[in-house]
Amino acid sequence: MKTAVFSSKRYDREFLERVNEATGAGHTLAFFDTRLNPDTASLACGHDAVCCFVNDRLDRAVLERLAGEGIRLAALRSAGFNHVDLAAARDLGITIARVPAYSPESVAEHTAALILALNRKIHRAYLRVREGNFALDGLLGFNLSGKTVGVIGTGKIGICAARIMRGFGCAILACDPQPSEELDEIGGCYVDLPDLLEQADIVTLHCPLTPETHHLIDAEAIDRMKPDAMLINTSRGAVVDTKALIEGLKGRSLGSVGLDVYEEEGDLFFENLSDTMIQDDVFARLLTFPNVLVTGHQAFFTREAMEAIATTTIRNISSFEETGAALHEVSVEKLA
Ligand code: NAD
Repeated sequence: MKTAVFSSKRYDREFLERVNEATGAGHTLAFFDTRLNPDTASLACGHDAVCCFVNDRLDRAVLERLAGEGIRLAALRSAGFNHVDLAAARDLGITIARVPAYSPESVAEHTAALILALNRKIHRAYLRVREGNFALDGLLGFNLSGKTVGVIGTGKIGICAARIMRGFGCAILACDPQPSEELDEIGGCYVDLPDLLEQADIVTLHCPLTPETHHLIDAEAIDRMKPDAMLINTSRGAVVDTKALIEGLKGRSLGSVGLDVYEEEGDLFFENLSDTMIQDDVFARLLTFPNVLVTGHQAFFTREAMEAIATTTIRNISSFEETGAALHEVSVEKLA
């Protein structure tokens, strides 16, 4: 199938081309570095499908333009689909496919990396040692063993993160409207959200972004947390109210914060902006705190995950070409 691949970096091209060739799928892939938005949708002209990532816009306006260009499939290279207007896709007859599970370990392990780095101040220690500063003041951490980790969302990634943190000797509390039996096997237990926030030393977010989870962590939630608690978000930026987070950090009602995602990341992440002036003052303020560690949506970025994303994406496109249905479709009807 002729597929226009948006937001594609060198690494996306490498993995997709390799899988396309190795499996003999034979799709014609055109790679565009640019994001999909109303101004770039016309690049899809002459293609049957688009292939998109997390910061591509698939709202009604863009989907209408894509439909006008004859696009019948949007193959997402992500698990999350909060950036897609599913009702508009249904109305316009565009099938949405995604990669439901590519490597929960990749994101869960990055969560652990953020926890360890923040706790032992590795980000500060790295810079100090390079300057010949071997003083330990300000680098005091705590033992993970015996601490309580609160996992919000115990799907594929949340369970994996819970298992890793259990391995460090942590007690696991969790909340999820759809509890998983696996949590019991790990030795964790479900509580309601207020209890989790009040009892956890580390709160880690692994729920999708939905209207219900938008700003789930707001000023009230932060107030409930222990004043020295650590908050980790590797799910979606808007699950956290960033302005409330900044107020919490300023008022010392939070111990530390590790973020791989940010609510306005679309203007920043995945690009080299080192020669430009960051215009987002909220993000810039976030970076001034010594107890905040931000990575640019890289939790998924392992060889294994990229291989799996490329494989499922190519299979979604092939299946749609052969049968008219993608392997992993997401639609309003399927979610109902
Ligand atoms: P999943 O669907 O397997 O699990 C999500 C879980 O969240 C489900 O069990 C669901 O019931 C639960 N949930 C829904 N609403 C909730 C709420 N209000 N409170 C608590 N739990 C709730 O998804 P997954 O594969 O584990 O991925 C989780 C999220 O991680 C994705 O939606 C995506 O946003 C994010 N993600 C981030 C990266 C990254 O690179 N940073 C990569 C992949 C996925």
